[in-house]
Amino acid sequence: MTVAQHLLIVVDASAGTASGQPVGVAARLIEADAQRPQLLVLDVAATRGDGIFETISVGRGLPQAFEAHLDRFGRSARMLDLPSPNLDLWRDAVLTLAQRLTDHDEAWVKTVLTRGVEGQPQPTGWAYATVSPDFRRERTEGISVVLLDRGLRSDVSATSPWLLAGAKTLSYAVNRAALREAQRRAADDVIFVSSDGMLLEGPTSTLVVRRGDTLVTPPHAVGILPGTTQADLFSAADQWGLRTAVQPLVADDVRDADAAWLVSSVRHAAPIRSVDDTALAVDGDLTSAMNAFLQARRS
Ligand code: PLP
Repeated sequence: MTVAQHLLIVVDASAGTASGQPVGVAARLIEADAQRPQLLVLDVAATRGDGIFETISVGRGLPQAFEAHLDRFGRSARMLDLPSPNLDLWRDAVLTLAQRLTDHDEAWVKTVLTRGVEGQPQPTGWAYATVSPDFRRERTEGISVVLLDRGLRSDVSATSPWLLAGAKTLSYAVNRAALREAQRRAADDVIFVSSDGMLLEGPTSTLVVRRGDTLVTPPHAVGILPGTTQADLFSAADQWGLRTAVQPLVADDVRDADAAWLVSSVRHAAPIRSVDDTALAVDGDLTSAMNAFLQARRS
């Protein structure tokens, strides 16, 4: 990395609301130093993980799947009963940061909205950006994954919406713990499985398998985050002569797949080379084509 790329913008979502007077977008974006403390210790982001985020990949200064990420930010806010984010303001914050990253093939911007400081009504918001790590090894050699029980049924979105399955919340301690468990088992990543045996998603990625000429991913209704990367790949599938399907999947579906990937905004498509003790074929040509497509996206 040639430049210390940690750029921060504080999004003052409450500005103008106290007086009832609207204020301009610029007045509500405040540049700040990402290397200096910016958050109050009583912010519920820090004390309860109570908030939402998006991580948006940026290619040569242009955010990718941008509107899908903004839509999902609004959806997560609704699921958590947060004030709905002013998406024009957030779009501006992301673009302001992204425009500083035009020298980099791969970077990302993260947007965060929290319920705010304990006992106060205004949310807290910020966006920051940095250059992506080098994922060439994962994208070419592939990753080893383990199946881990998430301990929730696949109908949990319908029966228990307060569990926030499928929202992109700041409470990722469980997802990080699952990745540490994978490391203890000498694996790189995880596919979560519901207590009734449905394949779900990775801790930070969506599962896609290839069965013959069809790419398959599990339905959102099993309690997973709607992935923007998976959606873009499915919209491009016919250029690789592939069809797409959204179907419930079980462990044998990935073990018996012709190829499989964990896909996500920053790492893009990481081919799965093993699931527990079962080796999987890595489809190198298709993986390269997918990653070239994902990296070339300009919106
Ligand atoms: N599922 C989870 C739980 C995630 O955290 C992520 C991304 O971080 C994804 C899926 C993939 O989503 P996207 O492709 O929009 O990055």
